[in-house]
Amino acid sequence: MPITVTLLSYLVSSVCCIMALRGLSGPETARNGLLFGVAGMALAIVTTILLPEVHSYGLIVLGIVIGGSVGAVIARKIEMTALPQLVAAFHSLVGLAAVTIAAAAFLNPVAYGISDGGSHILFGSLIEMSLGVAIGAVTFTGSIIAWGKLQGVITGAPIVFKGQHPFNAALGAVLLGLIVMLCVTQAPFAFWSIIVLSAALGVLMIIPIGGADMPVIVSMLNSYSGWAAAGIGFTLQNNLLIIVGALVGSSGAILSYIMCKGMNRSFFNVILGGFGGEASTAASAAHNDKQAKIGSAEDAAFILKNAGSVIIVPGYGMAVAQAQHALREMADILKEEGVKVRYAIHPVAGRMPGHMNVLLAEANVPYDDVLEMEEINRDFSQTDVAFVIGANDITNPAAKKDKSSPIFGMPILDVENAGTVLFVKRSLGSGYAGIENELFFHDNTMMLLGDAKKMCEGIIKALEQ
Ligand code: NDP
Repeated sequence: MPITVTLLSYLVSSVCCIMALRGLSGPETARNGLLFGVAGMALAIVTTILLPEVHSYGLIVLGIVIGGSVGAVIARKIEMTALPQLVAAFHSLVGLAAVTIAAAAFLNPVAYGISDGGSHILFGSLIEMSLGVAIGAVTFTGSIIAWGKLQGVITGAPIVFKGQHPFNAALGAVLLGLIVMLCVTQAPFAFWSIIVLSAALGVLMIIPIGGADMPVIVSMLNSYSGWAAAGIGFTLQNNLLIIVGALVGSSGAILSYIMCKGMNRSFFNVILGGFGGEASTAASAAHNDKQAKIGSAEDAAFILKNAGSVIIVPGYGMAVAQAQHALREMADILKEEGVKVRYAIHPVAGRMPGHMNVLLAEANVPYDDVLEMEEINRDFSQTDVAFVIGANDITNPAAKKDKSSPIFGMPILDVENAGTVLFVKRSLGSGYAGIENELFFHDNTMMLLGDAKKMCEGIIKALEQ
């Protein structure tokens, strides 16, 4: 394939990736965005395979068949609620790929065209390679720890020890020294030590991250995986890898920033770790002597039917129960009865960014009824009923009041300001951050205990009677 055709294909592929990101920024355009992404990647793979440097296709085809089959099976089987850990697992593979490619190039620089013709690697290539391999190794081990925490294999609580920050800082300084040493001397000792030290740093950076801060870390690791790919793109002198890596790196960084803003966290504090903590006991002490008011589907139907306005707050439990269709049906009946119904979306509701938007779109909830936290939070005080379905942490006032709480500082949906708060969940148990919610015991709260989908179906039945 002539070089101009290759470059043109890569350019088209890059534009497809940009269009994919643009499309994925909104639920109405997301499907087209995905199609652009698939087209861009397919074109990139075909173009790369047809490069003159590729002489044998056997291993490449084998890799595509094995990787493609595993990917297809996982994509078909995966539950939407398990996506964050899957994403974390995939990021680890990007990091590992960056490390192994860098190792191959380091061991055989002539084949990769990064030497002066002999075994001496060019200075610029050593800089690119050392950065790519360091970020790749951090991404690899960091993502494995993130996967373990999200999957429940490792404790979700922060793992901290005395002197953690100075220790990490010292490790970072040694790593920097090794990178300089590698660039100046090309010593194999420096190359392999960078990998070991970066891998250790990846573990140490993620273990102190706790509870509610995991979403930010997943998107931060997404950004790292992009930068690792871009670094290796320089080593391989592949323009497309550089462009796509930079796109992933920068979009992941922007997403992390948006999520930090949503969680009211300083980005650097999250990276340095230590947020989250053991379950707070302050909230439980406040309601030791109080009983939660438990209601039935019929009670809820009565309250909802007689309300002028209702704000629905969906959370992780709605996703688990797959209650979105029944919920929309319930909302439709209420609307027919003249009730004003809207949905309030917290930026970290569920288990991945945009989780609730995707589920509500799947159930054909009109986009205009779905409002982000900043748009609707003030309206709770003028709303008759807040219908909280499978949500917990995102409504917990401990985020405002309890300094020892792992979610302290995170903005919440102010459901307590509504006339009545209906909580649909199976028990009085905690949510992701592992802390109690004093709202369950407030005078204007009624707990509707049960599976979210079954409860909605029960309310629909009662509304129709
Ligand atoms: P939470 O995890 O705080 O609460 C969900 C609640 O749903 C639980 O308390 C549970 O209570 C209930 N539930 C579970 N299954 C069902 C069911 N079948 N029917 C009814 N209720 C059910 O979720 P939120 O959405 O409020 O908050 C999200 C949390 O997840 C935040 O802490 C956030 O930081 C974290 N997170 C978010 C990510 C993201 O990107 N959005 C990624 C990773 C973590 P019970 O067991 O009593 O039913």
